Amino acid sequence: MSEGPVITKKRFIAGAVCPACSEPDKLMMWSEDTVPHRECVACGYSDTLNEQGLSVPKELGTRVNTLALKVPDAKVQAVQFFPNPKLKKKPDEHH
Ligand SMILES: [Zn+2]
Repeated sequence: MSEGPVITKKRFIAGAVCPACSEPDKLMMWSEDTVPHRECVACGYSDTLNEQGLSVPKELGTRVNTLALKVPDAKVQAVQFFPNPKLKKKPDEHH
């Protein structure tokens, strides 16, 4: 009997509307280690709530991070495609 994560029972939130599919009374809520989790049984949407009580979608978070990493990478490559021997800039000086 070790003390693992404290997970409360899932229960429906009366009157809650899913932020993804707008279906009422489809959201279930539970807590894992005092972190509130929500899940929609209609569309499968799920998120957690951060310390400020704001919704943090689980899947969306990782996708946004991946995109944020790709965008500056493409810019750096585009800059390097300009051959300019007279104005030689170090790549490290990129602002
Ligand atoms: Zn939904």
